[in-house]
Amino acid sequence: MKIAILTIGDELCIGQIINTNAAWMAQACTEIGGIVLRHITIKDGIDLLLNELHSLKKEYDCILMSGGLGPTHDDKTKETLLAYFNDALILHEPTLDSLKTRARLRGLPLNQRNMDQALVPSTCTVLENPRGTAPGMLFHVENVIYVSLPGVPSEMKGIMQDHVIPFLRKHIEQEQGKIPYYHTILTKGIPESALADLIGEPDLFLQKDESLAFLPSYQGVRLRLGILSIDPIQAQQRLMEIQAFLKNVIGEYVYGFGKASLLSVTTDLLIQKQCTISVVESCTGGLLGAEFTKQSGSSAYFIGGLQTYSNDLKMQLAHVAPESLEHFGAVSKEVAEEMAIGGRKVLKTTYCLSITGIAGPDGGTQVKPVGTVWIGLASEHEVVSKRFNFGNDRAINRERSVMQAIAMLHDALVS
Ligand code: ATP
Ligand code: MG
Repeated sequence: MKIAILTIGDELCIGQIINTNAAWMAQACTEIGGIVLRHITIKDGIDLLLNELHSLKKEYDCILMSGGLGPTHDDKTKETLLAYFNDALILHEPTLDSLKTRARLRGLPLNQRNMDQALVPSTCTVLENPRGTAPGMLFHVENVIYVSLPGVPSEMKGIMQDHVIPFLRKHIEQEQGKIPYYHTILTKGIPESALADLIGEPDLFLQKDESLAFLPSYQGVRLRLGILSIDPIQAQQRLMEIQAFLKNVIGEYVYGFGKASLLSVTTDLLIQKQCTISVVESCTGGLLGAEFTKQSGSSAYFIGGLQTYSNDLKMQLAHVAPESLEHFGAVSKEVAEEMAIGGRKVLKTTYCLSITGIAGPDGGTQVKPVGTVWIGLASEHEVVSKRFNFGNDRAINRERSVMQAIAMLHDALVS
């Protein structure tokens, strides 16, 4: 199924908002075996949209649209679809009922502009939108599927998940027999190229309709196994077979599978081992604490942290020795280790992570260039520390510091 994604909106074209809908829709379509060949973004406007529809229908099996379905004068998508399909509006009672209920629950009057949202082209299948007011619409005309969704990301995603993805998935299955199944293996501590060398030529262990993709990020490299199959159980078995083969080769770098993350795997280990964690942060200014509190239930393992940006607070709160700061500097092995040891004592946790570094872009020296970061980890019996050199970008240095700190904790928990 050849798919074009057509996002509509003035704000998208002038760069006022980032087009996250297009990326999300493309990913969702690719996962079910759709082939996304084109992304188009246009301003609100009838003629522009009509032109695109007329030209896309010649080459594509499915045109996925988002935006312009609201009740205001700048929302032209419904009007355009009426003209394009030479259709007329009819009242969709269930939508009117849900608009009335919504207005009543919120204590708001239902004006004509809002009620018009229940008028839909007579030939479309209405895709209910319990998260908003404008329903989605699906047209299947001359072998082309047209889907029009609201621009609000949560509404678009809800309708995609509830209606569009199941519809397209069935269509793709009927059309090509096979659909893709995926399984992800998560690795850390090894760069993509070294991982590729260890694994060797994928053709030697993969069969027809099977694939292996390397997806690198700061969290490590994810290996995505894919298989095209008509049978979900067979596909699953084969994915597990390939996983077992790969685990033999790269097992020491594998930390998890599927939708897990380094954070979720690490915090699961903390819970399993009934351990707690605290943090003492300098250049990350609280980002590590924020990361640990991202998941619900974090109070089971995260106790709190000290933000010791200044040398004074490193001494006062984390009990770093003034001599260490003077002799070795704030960004040093000694200070990182003392921060972790001091924080652990004050905050009374099993582990304490510390981060001290030069995030940049200013403040670097020849011996300690921008991007130099020391991370410490104290436990009951020992303190370990590592030096990193991340580079010149402040935001990236802070993000990578957080990920490496979590990786060090993970190392300690599995060793
Ligand atoms: P509404 O009823 O809110 O008017 P709509 O279907 O008319 O919905 P738009 O007016 O195009 O949709 O967009 C509504 C809001 O949704 C925008 O202000 C924007 O914040 C967000 N949005 C729209 N399109 C996108 C997109 N492609 N990516 C991310 N966000 C988007
Ligand atoms: Mg709008």
